[in-house]
Amino acid sequence: MHDLELIQVGKVYDDGTTAVSNFDLAVEKGEFVAFLGPSGCGKTTTLRMIAGFETITSGDILIKGRNVSNLSAERRPTSMIFQNYALFPHMDVWKNVEYGLSVKGVGAPERKRRVGQILEKLGLTDIAHHRADRLSGGQRQRIALARGLVVEPDILLLDEPLGALDANLRRIIQNELKLLQKELGITFVFVTHAQSEALGLSDRVVVMSNGRVEQISDPRDLYTRPQTPFVAGFIGANTIFEGTIAPCDRAGAARIDTPFGPMEGVGPRAIAPGGKAIIAIPSDALDVHPAGFPATGRNRVEGTVLTREIVGHIGTLRVALPGRRPVQVESHVERFRDLEAREGDTVVLTWDPARSTVIAA
Ligand code: ADP
Repeated sequence: MHDLELIQVGKVYDDGTTAVSNFDLAVEKGEFVAFLGPSGCGKTTTLRMIAGFETITSGDILIKGRNVSNLSAERRPTSMIFQNYALFPHMDVWKNVEYGLSVKGVGAPERKRRVGQILEKLGLTDIAHHRADRLSGGQRQRIALARGLVVEPDILLLDEPLGALDANLRRIIQNELKLLQKELGITFVFVTHAQSEALGLSDRVVVMSNGRVEQISDPRDLYTRPQTPFVAGFIGANTIFEGTIAPCDRAGAARIDTPFGPMEGVGPRAIAPGGKAIIAIPSDALDVHPAGFPATGRNRVEGTVLTREIVGHIGTLRVALPGRRPVQVESHVERFRDLEAREGDTVVLTWDPARSTVIAA
């Protein structure tokens, strides 16, 4: 049985805005799942529908096999952590965390035990009697987490959990959050528009655009095997060529004809020749050679080096091709230093078909 299931969930707001359509998802117990996508794609609406703060207009939501679609938020086994944490500023940490238990009518001895335990776990015991509004961003984030966890939910829902923190703190809290989630074994579902956060934290990412699910994959597959043109353009730094599907007899491979010649990548067998498609090549899959090498072949484009730069341990080459945006090549600095490619040089870019993906457009 899944911890959480969304079956064809949809939301049309009263003003007629379709925010979410045909959303299907099944989450295992203990999974850490991210909803990732540009602003307005329906992430928060979906999270709020799971929490019960927003009604659904079609489909069903199941938690541990039980249909909760018509249950009010208080009666669902979920906790939600809001982006601004929604703490009571004048109350101390202890009272903030205890509040949800009081509302649920949990008796005083049990409240004391549970609050003490969760504050201990989150390293908040020493500041239990400090006012919430006198604390740092990281501490406030932890209090919000403690408040969500103290009611022992089946599923913790987090809205942009790291959004209010600066970059350094974000990295620290990100690690803590991940460790905590694994230790507790509670299912976490969170919303973010930050790719690094989604890919760094979660077991699986649901990429959304325009109210629809584009792809549900583990972070690695999202990088290496985008399944839709949107994902290929949104995740990582893929070079994309457009073309027409050509016959291909290699199993698991697909070929397209492009203005830059024939290109081959991993692709579905049942892809009909003649249709429009794209090929997506991760920026670190491109190999750079001097002009004229190799003379012909598939997966080969020729261009002129526009810029060459090194930032930290990553080297980046931008290569101009006629009639399209420059192509970006990224490589570890060790390999980059040996490249015989200066600004203005003609270079040949090639790549292994196994590292590129053909996607029907
Ligand atoms: P995200 O969290 O991905 O930024 P939202 O779920 O907030 O996206 O919004 C999805 C769509 O629904 C957007 O077009 C947004 O303008 C619209 N929307 C959100 N809340 C409401 C509301 N209360 N009434 C009408 N439209 C809304």
